[in-house]
Amino acid sequence: MKSFNFKSATNTKEATKMATGRTTFIAGGMTLLPAIKLGLAAYSDLINIKKIKSLSGIKISSKSLRIGAITTHTEVSVSKEVGKSIPSLAVLAEGIGDPQVRNRGTIGGSVANNDPAADYPAACLALNATIHTSKRKIPVDKFFKGMFETDLKKGEIIETIEFEVPEKSGYAKFPNPASRYAIVGVYVAKLKKEVRVAVTGVESCVFRCKKLEDVLSNNFSPAAIDNVNISSKGFNSDIHASAEYRAHIIKVMAKKAVSSC
Ligand SMILES: Cc1cc2nc3c(=O)[nH]c(=O)nc-3n(C[C@H](O)[C@H](O)[C@H](O)COP(=O)(O)OP(=O)(O)OC[C@H]3O[C@@H](n4cnc5c(N)ncnc54)[C@H](O)[C@@H]3O)c2cc1C
Repeated sequence: MKSFNFKSATNTKEATKMATGRTTFIAGGMTLLPAIKLGLAAYSDLINIKKIKSLSGIKISSKSLRIGAITTHTEVSVSKEVGKSIPSLAVLAEGIGDPQVRNRGTIGGSVANNDPAADYPAACLALNATIHTSKRKIPVDKFFKGMFETDLKKGEIIETIEFEVPEKSGYAKFPNPASRYAIVGVYVAKLKKEVRVAVTGVESCVFRCKKLEDVLSNNFSPAAIDNVNISSKGFNSDIHASAEYRAHIIKVMAKKAVSSC
């Protein structure tokens, strides 16, 4: 069904009320509209959430950075607050897609969609994010469930994403030259209590790499990664890169990410 009703909500309560039956939320439409056009998804009603003021804005405190769900990738990439507190997040946002995608696409849409090659899920996982929704707070370790699958329930809206401000962090991506989605993306973060490393583009869902976390916890330097052996078992193998190549590139990107801190 390529025809649908288009409704706008002005607050999250109203949006949630509208979300019954074959409906879904639309933010930037950068993923949803191509999926509908290609016949991969069909809805009777799209509920526009871009007019909900409470979903916008970037707020910083000493411990965390909160970004409203409808904040675009461009807004994150040029934000002074982001540049000051978590510069690697601005780098990540600047490397998403092309200017059109960055000007329309939103952080909430990217996180809700959980594409296996998307960039923001890696940032969320590495920066120990909390996903604030219209119903609850979800710790990131419980949020990403599988390919295009999250813990969100029908009618639940992501309101803000709260990132822990790290001591150091870096993101490096080996991008698909056409779409800029990650063939391999590695986000490293030295947090107050732990080192977290998240990898995207490599399996059906973003994941933490324990081997890299262990060596970087002892010595947060590119050299520490030299002797790590990354097994390619279970990794994606496609026209862009074999599983073995992805395993190799994880180390290369991890070193680049640590060097950029
Ligand atoms: C050509 C192209 C290149 C791209 N390159 C990259 C890239 O390099 N890296 C990358 O990470 N991404 C890339 N993307 C994806 C882009 O980042 C999109 O912004 C993102 O996937 C979806 O955001 P959106 O706001 O457009 O969401 P939409 O398309 O509007 O929605 C996507 C899904 O999320 C749901 N949703 C949206 N907002 C919320 C919310 N607040 N709460 C609950 N559910 C919500 C919708 O119901 C829908 O199911 C690319 C896309 C295109 C078209």
